[in-house]
Amino acid sequence: MTIVEAPTTPLRAADAPLPAYESYSSMSTYEACPRRYAFRYVERLPGEVSPGQFAFGNAVHKAFEVFIRQRIRVRAEGTPEPGLDLLQRACDQVLERAGLEPGELAGARVRAAPVLARFLEREASSLSIPVAAELGFGVNVAIAAEVFAEAPAETSTVRFVGYVDRVDRAPDGSTEVLDYKTGRARGQVDVDADRQLTAYAYAGARGALRDPTTGETLRPASRLCVYFADSGTEVLTGRTAAQLAAFERDLVAMAGRARRREFDPRPDSWRCRWCEYRNLCPDARRDG
Ligand code: SF4
Repeated sequence: MTIVEAPTTPLRAADAPLPAYESYSSMSTYEACPRRYAFRYVERLPGEVSPGQFAFGNAVHKAFEVFIRQRIRVRAEGTPEPGLDLLQRACDQVLERAGLEPGELAGARVRAAPVLARFLEREASSLSIPVAAELGFGVNVAIAAEVFAEAPAETSTVRFVGYVDRVDRAPDGSTEVLDYKTGRARGQVDVDADRQLTAYAYAGARGALRDPTTGETLRPASRLCVYFADSGTEVLTGRTAAQLAAFERDLVAMAGRARRREFDPRPDSWRCRWCEYRNLCPDARRDG
C-alpha cells in the first residue's frame, strides 16, 4: 500500500470545480461522509487502494460482461453460444493484470472456477434474452433554484449517470435489470432496500435505458434481480413509484448540498478504517 503524506497545502474543495455528474456511487459516498466525496469527486485525489483489492469482483464482472456481449452477438449471427472457456479467459485476463501475488492469483482462480461454472448453468436454463451488458445511462434531473443558492444558474439540473450490469428481456417482453455481486449473499430485506437497484429502476422509469442494438427505449424494469455470484443464487425485487420519487428527492437534496460545498467530515471508526483517504484526512478516526 502506498503511504500518502499529510497535505502541506490547504484542501481545495472550497474552490475546485464541482462534478458535472452524480451517480449512485457519488451519492452513497456523500451520504456516508461528505469530506470523502470532496476528496474523490471534487479534489479528484487518488485514494490508497491495496493492489488486487477489487481483483476478484472485477474479474468476475468482466467475465460475465464479455460472455453476455458474446451471447447477444451470436444470437444475432445465428452462431454457436459461448461456453466456459470464454468466461475463464476473460476472468483470467483481469486477474493476471491485477498485481496479485502468485498465491493470491492461484487462490482467486480456484474461487472463480465454480462461480463461472454456476453462471454458465444459470444462463443455459434462463428463458430471458440478454439485451445489454454494462449498459450506460444518463438522466437530467431538475433542481429547484433555491437549492443552488450560491451556485451559477446553469446548475439547475444535475445529470445522474451510471452503468447497469445487465438488462434482459423476459419472455413476456418486460424488462429485467440484473446486478451481479460477489461476496456474501444477502437476503430479501437487504435487496428490497438496495439503493443501487433503486437507482437502476429510477433510470428505467425515466426512459434512460436503451437497447444498444436498436436504440429503442426499454420499458421500465418490471423486475430487479441481484445475482450473488459466489453462491449462484439470486433474489428478485421491485420498486414502487413512491420509492422512485423518494430516491429522486434524496438525489436532489444530496446534489444541492454538494453544490453548496457542504463537505463536513463524518468521522467514524469503522468508516475511516476503510476509507482510502484515511492517511490524508486530518479528521480521520484512527481507533478502528
Ligand atoms: S477518513 Fe473518515 S472523516 Fe476522513 S474522509 Fe474518510 S471517512 Fe471521512
